[in-house]
Amino acid sequence: MTNTSTHYDVIVIGAGPAGYTAALRCAQLGLKTACIDNWLDKNGQSGLGGFFLNAGCLASLALLESAKIYHTLTHDLKKHGISAQAITLDVPLMIQRKDDIIQTLRLNIAEAFAYHHIDRYPARGKLLNNRQVEATPVDDINRPPVILEADHIILATSASPVKLACAPVDNEFIIDSVAALNLTSVPKKLAIIGAGVVGLELASIWSRLGAEVVLLDAQENFLSLVDQQLAIEAYQIYSAQGLDLRMGARVTSAKKDHKKVVINYEDRDGTHTLRVDKLIVASGRTPNTENLADPKADLLLDENGYVHVNENCRTNLPGVYAIGDLSLLGPMLAHKGIEEGVFVAEQIAGINNSIDYDILPSVIYTDPEIAWVGQTEQALHAMGEAIRVSSFPLKTNARAQATGKTEGLVKIIAHADTDALLGVHIIGAHASELIAEAVLAMEFSASSEDLARTIHAHPTLSEAVHESALGLKNKSLYALFSK
Ligand SMILES: Cc1cc2nc3c(=O)[nH]c(=O)nc-3n(C[C@H](O)[C@H](O)[C@H](O)COP(=O)(O)OP(=O)(O)OC[C@H]3O[C@@H](n4cnc5c(N)ncnc54)[C@H](O)[C@@H]3O)c2cc1C
Repeated sequence: MTNTSTHYDVIVIGAGPAGYTAALRCAQLGLKTACIDNWLDKNGQSGLGGFFLNAGCLASLALLESAKIYHTLTHDLKKHGISAQAITLDVPLMIQRKDDIIQTLRLNIAEAFAYHHIDRYPARGKLLNNRQVEATPVDDINRPPVILEADHIILATSASPVKLACAPVDNEFIIDSVAALNLTSVPKKLAIIGAGVVGLELASIWSRLGAEVVLLDAQENFLSLVDQQLAIEAYQIYSAQGLDLRMGARVTSAKKDHKKVVINYEDRDGTHTLRVDKLIVASGRTPNTENLADPKADLLLDENGYVHVNENCRTNLPGVYAIGDLSLLGPMLAHKGIEEGVFVAEQIAGINNSIDYDILPSVIYTDPEIAWVGQTEQALHAMGEAIRVSSFPLKTNARAQATGKTEGLVKIIAHADTDALLGVHIIGAHASELIAEAVLAMEFSASSEDLARTIHAHPTLSEAVHESALGLKNKSLYALFSK
């Protein structure tokens, strides 16, 4: 039986970064707001934050930090003149620390929801006709579904890890990215299908904790969306760290066999077999649109099953929007969803706003990190743009030397005639923080000269951005390293 019916100004379905941000901004703007989310943790508790917080980027970041500390203690102390004995690893405690961080952040969001009087529904949301939503409780199956109504509905149900027929997940031996963030011991030998952002972050965690990691990816080009100079640099750094990166490797089957996983794959040299302790499937995501809308609602999907939206995140249905990883507008990144959440909330409240998807930073939280904004050198060449390029290696930076984090470079691309900044690409320690300066510069339509004339504190990593900009004018004091 279905209960009726509460009316809201806005109903948000999905409480990841896109959804919870949209709900918070709507409520802040005085709109009566409800948020429906079906996430249940491993103990069956509902929680805000979505895939991002509970089993995605943030969860991965927490473990990466632990893995980095362990790796430093076991590999990098000697050269500092420090020795430490009896360093042990307690993986369940490490996972618990990650879960505690998630819990704290979940509570922060829940408190913000309460402060802004947002009604929470731990439920599966389904869009019906006429801006009605059916909310079916997930935390108490005895409670009947309720029908809610709203003037505006924001869909933010995102995407889930892709399932591969050749590698059926059992979450014991063949596992998905969620289970990969909850392993209770370090596998001796680990394979990962997919050498993209997710696969690389998971590889960074478990290899730093001592696993032997093989990444298999059907694509020939490593990190094809990244500027290829950085992709090559990254390939060399990760390989030197011990990651076994096999590109052009198409997995044909994976099966459990005597507490191991046997993987068969093909590459240009023929067919191969690998035997590992665990296999992680991390090869792409698929939109959560199944049962999201009643067929009578007529929600338009694109050919990949993502919700079709225009440049204002509006779907084909009046008053219905889609944001975050649920649409293919812009890259699948948490901060893209956050920005769209604010964008749509403000549209609903009648505030003029826009998003410039061209000035949206991307980050890969490996060690070292990769971060970029704007166009790659390859894309600009393909567009026939006249460009100038400068690369500054971090090994020449004083702060990098002092911290011992000398791997990587800062690459800046500017227009040859106007000097406008067209792309900034960084691989190195703290790249995710360094990129903010470049994003701000591009947001204010700065030239490379503006960056070059800006005083940077010495000694800092940010001087590498400064030197790279100076390099474009042949003014780098270390011109030897600029191209
Ligand atoms: C291992 C890993 C590493 C990542 N690393 C990065 C990174 O380094 N940088 C980065 O920017 N991004 C990263 N991402 C991607 C990032 O997590 C996503 O871009 C982000 O989570 C998308 O946010 P969202 O709000 O669209 O959806 P999500 O965070 O996925 O939240 C969607 C919510 O909607 C709920 N939902 C789904 N269907 C329904 C329904 N019918 N009714 C109610 N609720 C529903 C889900 O349960 C979930 O709670 C990573 C992802 C993974 C898996």
